[in-house]
Amino acid sequence: MRKDDVHAVASAPAEARTGRRGLLFVLSAPSGTGKTTLVGGLVERVPDLVRSRSYTSRGARPGEVDGVDYHFVAPARFRDMIAAGAFLEWADVFGRLYGTGAAETERCRAAGRDVVLVIDVQGARQVRRRVQDAVSVFALPPSFEVLEERLRGRGREAAGGSDLERRLRTARREVAMIDEYDYVVVNDEVDACVDRLRHIVLAERSRAAAMRERTRGIVETFRTVDSPLQRTGAD
Ligand code: 5GP
Repeated sequence: MRKDDVHAVASAPAEARTGRRGLLFVLSAPSGTGKTTLVGGLVERVPDLVRSRSYTSRGARPGEVDGVDYHFVAPARFRDMIAAGAFLEWADVFGRLYGTGAAETERCRAAGRDVVLVIDVQGARQVRRRVQDAVSVFALPPSFEVLEERLRGRGREAAGGSDLERRLRTARREVAMIDEYDYVVVNDEVDACVDRLRHIVLAERSRAAAMRERTRGIVETFRTVDSPLQRTGAD
């Protein structure tokens, strides 16, 4: 079973997990920021955190595997899924449809696993509306120039042209929405950035509300367990 596989763990018994409902994290970043690498490093370093696998109507790129990188589905099937309310959120990105399966996400959270969605700004907005306690993070490249350089360096944008221009235009629009997010990290250096993401997850896990299931038993002992000192009246 892949450690970062949302589907494989969704059926794991709740008692084997953290004893609480999983948290929902959303990560958005302009294309070329390195969010795939960041989230890969994050789920590797943080136990009980899984990355959600999205559905998309776009075709698989060389090296991408159905059911691993995405669930690749025909546009008509995607539309049917929208009509059936199968998505927690969905969006049209660069003319292709992308969405997060509602049932998989829910099963995973119910089993006590924290889930991270790597989705665009439109999807993030929908999740924030529907899931009050979702935690959203925006990853920024160090600068616009660095992003452009990185995109130019990538194989499929190497020729430059309209695809590159579209991604840069989209990046400007996405960065304008940064204030809607709970946290921001700058991907200046991958390891350091993954570590900052890790700290965000750990901090959110330590919120009193997130800790309630775990702390209930401990707090209860403060009400019910007798201290030998108190029994002898030494306090
Ligand atoms: P790509 O086709 O390069 O893998 O992804 C293009 C964009 O779609 C990225 O910004 C990515 O974050 C976004 N994306 C991937 N999956 C989802 C999803 O399930 N929902 C939304 N709203 N965006 C997604």
